[in-house]
Amino acid sequence: THFGFQTVPEEEKGEKVYRVFESVAQKYDIMNDSMSLGIHRLWKDWFINHMNPTPGTQLLDVAGGTGDIAFRFINYIRAQREKLIRNQTKSQQNLSWSDISRSYSHDQLGPLMGSQAVICDINKEMLKVGKDKLQRLGYSEGLSWVAGDAEELPFADDKFDVYTIAFGIRNVTHIDKALEEAYRVLKPGGRFLCLEFSQVNNPLLARLYDLYSFQVIPVLGEIIAGDWKSYQYLVESIRRFPPQEEFKEMIEDAGFFKVNYHNLTSGVVAVHSGFKL
Ligand code: SAM
Repeated sequence: THFGFQTVPEEEKGEKVYRVFESVAQKYDIMNDSMSLGIHRLWKDWFINHMNPTPGTQLLDVAGGTGDIAFRFINYIRAQREKLIRNQTKSQQNLSWSDISRSYSHDQLGPLMGSQAVICDINKEMLKVGKDKLQRLGYSEGLSWVAGDAEELPFADDKFDVYTIAFGIRNVTHIDKALEEAYRVLKPGGRFLCLEFSQVNNPLLARLYDLYSFQVIPVLGEIIAGDWKSYQYLVESIRRFPPQEEFKEMIEDAGFFKVNYHNLTSGVVAVHSGFKL
């Protein structure tokens, strides 16, 4: 294109992606907030509400980076547990807590009722920043941090209730392999959920978004992180990712059922979901 982007040969893509996230790790959260004007938070909140996980859910968050999805998942589970206990006590006013607790296993009585989130990312720097951040905020229970490749996940078959990947799949070299791996590690009945940049369906917004992406993002990258190239990569990778319908078909090709998607912010991002039967 006239923007002068080069295409990266496939065998080099993995290395390039690794270098990009290694170099942005420390500034990753600040950059997300400033480049999206904080909107990435709303998209991630929407994503977790849409997941609507129940206490006990075993989550695998791939390309989990600094833990934003796992963090929201844990908060959601905590809130669900509060609600459950409040309703229990309301409906069984004459029962004591020990009466109520008899109907739950030990795990279910813990603050997360047995829920766990595994954050898996290929980049150790991103994981380290995320783990430190969440520990500082008092989140360590129920979380584990695992270095691993989305294309070759270090987990057994049929292990998780939910697989998430947020702003991650466009960075993977072979998307089809990552989708196959998602299918493999999910339990039958498990759910696949992906949050990713997609194709804007409003012409005016599309025009503004283009201007913003190509003219503003790399400049912000240079100013805030001293790193023009990484943020140029970001914009390129968004442009190359398949549009909503095409990505939906790829998910179906990996074996998922009931695949659908929701556009957020006129398709700036889309949430795809599907089930393993
Ligand atoms: N999910 C986080 C979020 O929403 O803030 C982080 C998204 S960040 C844009 C993309 C992440 O994908 C990076 O942390 C990067 O290391 C990771 N990644 C890239 N290729 C990967 C792969 N093949 N397997 C696992 N993670 C990968």
